[in-house]
Amino acid sequence: MRRKIVAGNWKMNGSEDLVRNLVNDVSNGMASLENCVEVVIIPPALYVRDVLSLVGQREAAVATGVQNVAPWDAGAYTGEISAAMAADVGCRYALVGHSERRQLFGETDELVAEKVRKVLASGLAVIVCVGETLAEREQGVAERVVARQVRAALAEVESADWPKVIVAYEPVWAIGTGKTATAADAQAMHQAIRKELSGLGAPESDVSVLYGGSVKPDNAAELFAQPDIDGGLIGGASLIADDFLGICQAA
Ligand code: 13P
Repeated sequence: MRRKIVAGNWKMNGSEDLVRNLVNDVSNGMASLENCVEVVIIPPALYVRDVLSLVGQREAAVATGVQNVAPWDAGAYTGEISAAMAADVGCRYALVGHSERRQLFGETDELVAEKVRKVLASGLAVIVCVGETLAEREQGVAERVVARQVRAALAEVESADWPKVIVAYEPVWAIGTGKTATAADAQAMHQAIRKELSGLGAPESDVSVLYGGSVKPDNAAELFAQPDIDGGLIGGASLIADDFLGICQAA
């Protein structure tokens, strides 16, 4: 279902203290949100159970996700976790294909597609990250690169699974840099992504497309007001409760 979502990707940040304080502050602050945004917390895998136990009965209001999954079901894959395990402990989302995974861990479009398959088979919703580098934007191939990533990751999604697919457009040059895509540039890319999705058979009403890359409380409202932007994937600002809640309120 196309819906408003704000997801906090904590990346490799956190501690037991931070988890407790941040999740309590976000959970308490949810009560004052005046919209019906779906809020997702995506901590390092070691802290998933802590987040889940803190959001507890408020699970309907705050969902939990993992930042990555293995492209396998189970077995001799030291250090990996599977989508089925994330589902087993109570996660509702899995992030796949973040640019940091693509760039630092060599994840290819094919590997991302395999992970998408595993996530959907586990019953979780998948947030698939796509986005061009600065060089690609400067060469004028940003839309082509993003369209390729969308096609590669989602070409084999079965029609019943589209409501569990979310795309996050995160221009690599905007991640952690304080540089945000202009609302107009982000909107143009989101529109292009929607066109690609409909070419793959996704019903227009089914897929939420989120923007990520230096989203802060003071730029979120303008981004989220664009017709094809359904919310955000938030890095740095998701580690500060007031900032994260401010972004959730803007959705
Ligand atoms: P920042 O919000 O820190 O730029 O990170 C965005 C991101 O990569 C979220 O996945």
